[in-house]
Amino acid sequence: MHGSTYDQASVPQSPFGCDVHTHTLFSRHAYSTIGECVDAARAAGLELLGSTDHYSCMTSPSLHVRDYQYFINFDVWPRVWNGVRVLRGAEADIIDLEGHLFGWNTYLSEGITGKSFEHRPTLQEYVWRNLDYAIASIHDKTFAQSASLVRATEMYVRALADPKVLILGHSGRAGVPFDVDAVLCAAKERGKLIEINEHSFARHYGSSTHNTCRRIAERCAELGVMIATGSDAHIACDIGRFDKTFALLEEIHFPTELIATRDAHTFLRVCEHAIGALPEGRPQ
Ligand SMILES: [Zn+2]
Ligand SMILES: [Zn+2]
Repeated sequence: MHGSTYDQASVPQSPFGCDVHTHTLFSRHAYSTIGECVDAARAAGLELLGSTDHYSCMTSPSLHVRDYQYFINFDVWPRVWNGVRVLRGAEADIIDLEGHLFGWNTYLSEGITGKSFEHRPTLQEYVWRNLDYAIASIHDKTFAQSASLVRATEMYVRALADPKVLILGHSGRAGVPFDVDAVLCAAKERGKLIEINEHSFARHYGSSTHNTCRRIAERCAELGVMIATGSDAHIACDIGRFDKTFALLEEIHFPTELIATRDAHTFLRVCEHAIGALPEGRPQ
């Protein structure tokens, strides 16, 4: 007899209706299947789960389409799964100071079956066709290490301009200094979101990262920029856990109306406004 792995009564309930930054086994250094993540989301009381595996050299250095086909077959996922609205996302690496994302200039000659393309798409175009939204993040800052503040700022602004990028991921812990106000205003102008990432408050990132994240959140509040909360869970039991994020937002009296992830309706509305309406998909 199969049932949920989670006893809902013993699972802490999420203070936000959505968790839009989570990882499955596909990310390779994460440990749960999408089904386990959906069960965990339901148990944590989430209305909406965004699954955002790494679209990056972290999962494969090959740039071959067959290594990214996980993202291509998203149509088989129910839109509402075990009572949870499930969005199909990716966390894409920003790979240069122009703000380009992984795979942007890799032209494919064939699809996953080996059939040749008449018009060669890029890896990013092809793999992202069925994506609802992307988070743009930096994981290896080597390329940006000697960048001026102006260039680093332009990099983030350009990444945010990608039509599928909805969220700027964990900019407070990327280690690349930028003009916070300029990036926040660019996000606001496009109706896009600045992430406050729960994992950035992990002890090993230290107090300076914590302070940077706090400053970003405070400026979002002051400038009227919407945020996305993400657990960045790499295992199902961390989904919907926002202890540090919630405490910080309470402490700085962050306006609830600027939290795009407060409920599914709000997040879907923001998503629709910034990157277009989501298709309904097949019923559960
Ligand atoms: Zn990340
Ligand atoms: Zn992540």
